[in-house]
Amino acid sequence: MRAASPELLDEVTSEARRRVGEGRCAAYIPALAGADPSLAGLALVERGESGDPREFASGDADARFTMQSVSKAFALACALETRGAEAVFSRVGVEPSGDAFNSIVRLETSARRKPFNPMINAGAIATTSLLPGEDAQARVRLLARFIGSMTGEEPRVDDGVYRSERDTAARNRSIAWMLKELGLLDGDVEEALDAYFMQCALRTSARELARAGACFAFDGERADGVRVMRPESARVTKALMCLCGLYDGSGAFAVAAGVPAKSGVGGGIMAASRGRAGIGAFGPALDAQGNSVFGTRALSALAERLDLFSY
Ligand code: GLU
Repeated sequence: MRAASPELLDEVTSEARRRVGEGRCAAYIPALAGADPSLAGLALVERGESGDPREFASGDADARFTMQSVSKAFALACALETRGAEAVFSRVGVEPSGDAFNSIVRLETSARRKPFNPMINAGAIATTSLLPGEDAQARVRLLARFIGSMTGEEPRVDDGVYRSERDTAARNRSIAWMLKELGLLDGDVEEALDAYFMQCALRTSARELARAGACFAFDGERADGVRVMRPESARVTKALMCLCGLYDGSGAFAVAAGVPAKSGVGGGIMAASRGRAGIGAFGPALDAQGNSVFGTRALSALAERLDLFSY
């Protein structure tokens, strides 16, 4: 087994980068379509032997992009911390859905009558609506502070991406109104949507995702030992990441990379190898399931070479 090193990250980055031509940038949110598909960044954060954090980065690890669905993992952890598991899971289930991330169909047909899990849009919109705060801005501020406690940098909303999604979100709007009808959304529907669009448009980098991933990997503590959430919140979030963190590619990714992870259509992936490391990857070219081609390849290679498998 090899130890993490700058050379290893460079090696994995240049190998995985060769595959990015197989993917395409997300186009359904107009502002994402213009991303440079050749970008590729990788970062890993671990605890050194003396307990100090050790950070490795390669390629475009500091390039900024929007979290998109990676934010769903943070919103879940934040809702678990602030509202508790009972409040969250009375509105959202914990089972994989087998449907597309933006599917509305089971809200109507399933006997459950609640979203299958917090990682699909329906579940995430309901989860975000639970965050404490008098309006959308206040909820997103709380979430950004929570994320900032993990990464050292409070993320900001990318206004262009936020507006681009808000103005083209017919499907998410339909989902939110359906949630309202089912009694799963408190308050104003547009307000709930606004908070969701803003959280998706929070800017991050592979390096920051690695730092945040470390907080999940170390059961709620940052790599430097500071606690940012309860172990239970980290554990439950990782369980959901493992079951449905990579859309309809979650099973294949679990087999290949063996670590809980959450992806987003901005091209980011955050992964957490328990007790070992947080990993962040970024490459905006996506595969057919909506996952970063670079990110899934790089994470699988890194997990294999460092034996990061959690299962
Ligand atoms: N903001 C995106 C949406 O709701 C997030 C999608 C994603 O990253 O899966 O469509």
